[in-house]
Amino acid sequence: VSPLARVAVGARVAVAVTRMRAANYDSLDQMLYEGTDSYRGDWAAQRFDWVLEALDHHLVHSQPYKRLAQGMGFRISDLEESRNLDLIPLLSSGSFKQNLFGIETNVMRCASSGTMGSISVVPRDARTIERFIGSIAHGMKEFFDQTERQRGFILGPRPEEARDLWFAYSWSLTSLYNDVDYFVRGESLQAEAAYEALRAAEADDNAEPAIAASPSMLVALLEWMAAHGVSLDLGQKNSWVITAGGWKKAAQAQIDQVAFRADVVRRLGLAPTNIRDIFNMVELNSIIFECEAGAKHVPPWLEVSARSPYDLKTVEPGEVGVLAYLDPSPLSYPGFILSDDLGTVSDDPCSCGRNGPILTLTRRLEAIEERGCGLKMSRYASAGAEL
Ligand SMILES: [Zn+2]
Repeated sequence: VSPLARVAVGARVAVAVTRMRAANYDSLDQMLYEGTDSYRGDWAAQRFDWVLEALDHHLVHSQPYKRLAQGMGFRISDLEESRNLDLIPLLSSGSFKQNLFGIETNVMRCASSGTMGSISVVPRDARTIERFIGSIAHGMKEFFDQTERQRGFILGPRPEEARDLWFAYSWSLTSLYNDVDYFVRGESLQAEAAYEALRAAEADDNAEPAIAASPSMLVALLEWMAAHGVSLDLGQKNSWVITAGGWKKAAQAQIDQVAFRADVVRRLGLAPTNIRDIFNMVELNSIIFECEAGAKHVPPWLEVSARSPYDLKTVEPGEVGVLAYLDPSPLSYPGFILSDDLGTVSDDPCSCGRNGPILTLTRRLEAIEERGCGLKMSRYASAGAEL
């Protein structure tokens, strides 16, 4: 069995194993694996400590990152004094495309093809993957009513076929469910089989379907159903549609979110509040979940900020900027990432009752590698690797 399949299939086991590993068990693990009501408190101070601890770790263990920090004249004491997180050196998405962090052998290489044809490769060791899985389990617990009757319908390949494509692999992690079926063989959706399985679940009092798919796969299922003049009424039970991994692709394909959701409601009979999008990108080791009000709530350990493209300083809450992530959960690579997405981070209260930062993605920067800050950042990182 490949490490990939083992990890994906054994998601529950992996989390359990980590729980037992008391020696390395810190407060971040505790939040990831056991945290409840995590969207009620103010975690800013604790988050700063987690980020600082991770920064300490990467400055020691990652030579490219250490050189990047030195090149920028970064001193950890300045950060400790000012508590200004803008000081932390960021890696551009471009540095993962140059494969700067794939040197170690004892890691899983998670790859994703970018919109410009380039491939990002992110090396994850066992503990980093366990934490990634933990962030999914944490969000499922916080945002979904989980029951023993829930069954996973994955419109994606089986874990052993998913290879290292990150978004496909993400779906396989929904093996957190007791019972899971996969409906992609090779590259294609088995629409009829998916529909028949869902129809059987609709009639079964002991089945509550949770459908996980990329937006494009879900559209393919809905189109098949429309072509065959069939629909389902899954709203009678605790059913969910979870879309994941296809945000950038969906933006490219111009999938109209409003029309898309209306179609899901019409064909599957679900309440609009039970359709949720979850956000991740290959460089990020945490998942960002959407609440019943449609807001993407940033988990307590993750710092997300919108930065000015000119000086990378954090802009005012609610203002559009280049999104930057300080993720303390990965250990085998630094999770301090300047993305090529534009968006806002706001502290406004959400009607769902949860508090803390809310992320809104607006659009993708075009060819950030050719712009000032992105170019400079990836040059820093690549110069570091050659030293
Ligand atoms: Zn909310």
